[in-house]
Amino acid sequence: MTFDVNALRAEFPILSRKIDGKPLVYLDSAASTQKPQAVIDAITSFYTECNANVHRGAHALSDEATRRYEKARDSVSKFVNANRREEVIWTSGTTESINLVANGLAQRLDPNDEVVVTEMEHHANLVTWQQACEKAGATLKIAKINDAGELDIESFKDQLSERTRLVAFPHVSNALGTVNPIVELTQIAKSTGAWVLVDGAQGIAHGGVDVQAIGCDFYAFSGHKLFGPTGIGVLWGRFDVLNAWPVWQTGGEMISDVEYLSATWGALPNRLEAGTPNIAGAIGLGAAIEWFLQQDITALQQHEAQLIASAMEQGEAFEGMRLVGTAKNKIGVMSFLLDNAHPGDVGFILDRQGVAIRTGDNCAQPLMKRLGIGGTARASFSIYNTLEEVDALFAALRKAKSMLG
Ligand code: PMP
Repeated sequence: MTFDVNALRAEFPILSRKIDGKPLVYLDSAASTQKPQAVIDAITSFYTECNANVHRGAHALSDEATRRYEKARDSVSKFVNANRREEVIWTSGTTESINLVANGLAQRLDPNDEVVVTEMEHHANLVTWQQACEKAGATLKIAKINDAGELDIESFKDQLSERTRLVAFPHVSNALGTVNPIVELTQIAKSTGAWVLVDGAQGIAHGGVDVQAIGCDFYAFSGHKLFGPTGIGVLWGRFDVLNAWPVWQTGGEMISDVEYLSATWGALPNRLEAGTPNIAGAIGLGAAIEWFLQQDITALQQHEAQLIASAMEQGEAFEGMRLVGTAKNKIGVMSFLLDNAHPGDVGFILDRQGVAIRTGDNCAQPLMKRLGIGGTARASFSIYNTLEEVDALFAALRKAKSMLG
């Protein structure tokens, strides 16, 4: 199969938009990816053809809605290579997935226990563990990174001990693009007997994820970073671990038997999914995954590698640019600063030229402080971006430099 980026782009209606008369150059996919028509159609079709609540109704619409909704769970299960479909728990996104795990962990932590994360965490994979540790009087330990933004494996090992109960790290850093060696990290962490959670928010959209090959206990991700809708996400968890995990939200759907003064819990996945779920969201995410699986994923990965390589090469040659995050193994993200220019001003000037990037602390304030900066400008790339768009970014940056210099 040959890869035709323009044919792929044609499936994303928003990419033909103009911003102030200029073609949109969307370089903010690490914040949220755009959606192909197949996903938009799946959501529209649910609302126009079979909108009803799932698992409840004794009628045709509810049956059809339930079938589509549970089929989406099968798509996720296949996509991450889960052992069983019950290992796929719907959440509202990565943040809620991590909160689900942290909520249960807090009930199990003792004051002597430790949780380990890294210096490159998104707030969702940091503050959540701070809170869990605080509730239990446990200790949060932080593994260091080097100045290129790569995890220091020795420091990671140093944080681990027989007291470690859970280790969490990102698959890919949202602020730096660093790809972590998650199989190796999981192996090291598991040797202490700890649970391992991988924050897959940025890892999921760059190819297949095989949770069994990784060996982790939990893998969390958001639909909206995988060409699916917002408000839907996944917590994949190993069956035996999830099955023993404390319930968190309570209400309809997650129970087995209820008395006025007590209740018992249903089986997975329902026991961790209280209330009416985001049905259209799940169906949209299922459609996104089925759409993605139809692509030539190896070709997409090669294309993405070319985009980041071109961006980094031009970034290194760009006078007055400081690249933030120069890991050898990186994908999707180029964070940078221009000399004497505030990232917010750079973002504003780029936006006037149709180039959409993110600016600010990247939801990683401690990481920014560790790097001695307040924030960055961040261009992030996805499968539908072109090498011409990377060039357009640098043309816009030259203009920004001349205006701000
Ligand atoms: N972790 C990482 C690495 C992320 O990039 C993000 C989203 N920026 C999150 C967690 C949180 O994802 P969400 O806001 O979709 O819950």
